[in-house]
Amino acid sequence: MSLWLSGIGVSRGIAIGRVHRIHATDLDIPEYEIAADALDAEVQRFEEGLARTREQLETIRDQVPANAPPEIAAFIETHLLMLEDSALSDTVAKLIREHHCNAEWALKLQQDHLVSVFDQMDDAYLRTRRDDVVHVTARLQRVLLKEERHIEARREANREPPVIVADDLTPADIIILHQQGVGAFISEHGGPLSHSAILARSLRIPAVVGMHAARRLLLDDETVVVDGEAGHVLAAPDAEAIEFYRHRQKRDQRYRRMLGKLKGEPAVTADGVPIRLLANVELPDDSADAAEVGADGIGLYRTEFLYMNREDMPTEEEQLAAYRRVLRSVDGPVTIRTLDLGADKTLGQGRDPAQSTNPALGLRAIRLCLKETDMFRVQLRALLRASAEGDVRVMLPMISNTQELKQTRHLIGETMNQLRAEGHAFNSALPVGAMIEVPAAALSAPLLARHADFFSLGTNDLIQYTLAMDRVDDEINYLYDPLHPAVLRLIKLTIEAGEQAPIPVSMCGEMASDRRYTRLLLGLGLTEFSMHPASILEVKQLIMQSNVAALREQVDAMLACSDADEFREHLDALDEPAPA
Ligand code: PEP
Ligand code: MG
Repeated sequence: MSLWLSGIGVSRGIAIGRVHRIHATDLDIPEYEIAADALDAEVQRFEEGLARTREQLETIRDQVPANAPPEIAAFIETHLLMLEDSALSDTVAKLIREHHCNAEWALKLQQDHLVSVFDQMDDAYLRTRRDDVVHVTARLQRVLLKEERHIEARREANREPPVIVADDLTPADIIILHQQGVGAFISEHGGPLSHSAILARSLRIPAVVGMHAARRLLLDDETVVVDGEAGHVLAAPDAEAIEFYRHRQKRDQRYRRMLGKLKGEPAVTADGVPIRLLANVELPDDSADAAEVGADGIGLYRTEFLYMNREDMPTEEEQLAAYRRVLRSVDGPVTIRTLDLGADKTLGQGRDPAQSTNPALGLRAIRLCLKETDMFRVQLRALLRASAEGDVRVMLPMISNTQELKQTRHLIGETMNQLRAEGHAFNSALPVGAMIEVPAAALSAPLLARHADFFSLGTNDLIQYTLAMDRVDDEINYLYDPLHPAVLRLIKLTIEAGEQAPIPVSMCGEMASDRRYTRLLLGLGLTEFSMHPASILEVKQLIMQSNVAALREQVDAMLACSDADEFREHLDALDEPAPA
């Protein structure tokens, strides 16, 4: 009999395959005593395990796909650094000698200790480090237990690719399994903003996370259908269901081919409203992907990645070179966001300012830059110098009041005077915009608009702060809802403030790239969308079929809905093809 299971769909696509269950982190650890004369050999076995694990991670690091987000390589580097740390290597060897216990048990004792230390820390970033400890020790345990095969999905000839069902999967596991040709991932833990989910999306492998009883309810070798968009898994499907999903797979392939043809087409709605489709980039080289899909420019360049995984700060010349590379590789405006550090985005290596008890509400983004003005001035100089060479716009993250805008403009003015005196060219009318990502900014948007040249809605943070839910805490993922009436009202207020000022309003949070919301956003009056280049063509396709005038009326009426569920019911009706 077929069985339906539900989780969180984090990477789109349909896969039909056979279940292959693996135990990525919750292993059975044996405990036994080591005789005094065998202690040296046991320590040596542990050290060989460390070396083998290091080799594995180095191989994985070298195989990270070129289009994977930069944080994936950084994540693997963190695991390598942890292996080098004496808290793991020396302490475990010491425990083996002192307690006469086997290497696996000593490692387990040390892992429990480290996890309890991290658990006591009231800090979102350190909580993610706790997961790193669990993942890296589990990898080492698997090497010691010679259970590495458990993470291998053997692809048999003429069979459907395996669907991996695991408790949890690290990005490193995902890279290995991808090379073995897996069809999809299902995991019991994890959330849509986890590194593994990001990686599955860039590798285009369907994935469902947070399916809590998956390894108990799904049996090895049984056929399953995975719908990575809806977050559904159908076990033991009958012939009719298989045929239905095969049909959908084929339709998806046709759809991708058809999207490719939209590259050169202008993004204009069926009733003639031009829409700007911009790209989000994290590294200068990502801008090539943006150009490839014909983006109208860059709507968000996250410069913080220039500052990460290094021991010093990027110099003015280095930043200028990065900004130039982006400017040269795309046509249209390049919106460079000033450094957005703090909360879950940290420099590491002891280079971060003291962490506050609530980092997401602490010294992050523009607040940090306005405190560390020497550091900020270096970036402003580079931005201004780049502005002499193309259409650069500056965007300030996490603005919550007018003072922050005024203060930044003042600093920009001072930097301009300095550059002028030094004989450097720059655009003296450099547009300066505010990200709208805290409720205070959205609620006071008409006031902020007097001091900003444009707005960009950062819905990832706007949703986090409006709904008081930490975006990196997977326990409360379920609260993340772009359709919450409070979120929709704040978006609408911001767009209206932009229309009245008038200044352009774009959206660069994940909501802009999700085609479930494209028509809703058009109906709310949004005319500029910025997203990962991979989503641009499918959003463009929906735009070309939409009628903005009709959507605006429909969405206006829908705003009377009393909750997100009621709103969601009406959302489907927006998908009706619009009269041309
Ligand atoms: C956002 O908050 O929506 C945003 C685009 O910024 P980031 O995801 O980098 O915080
Ligand atoms: Mg943000």
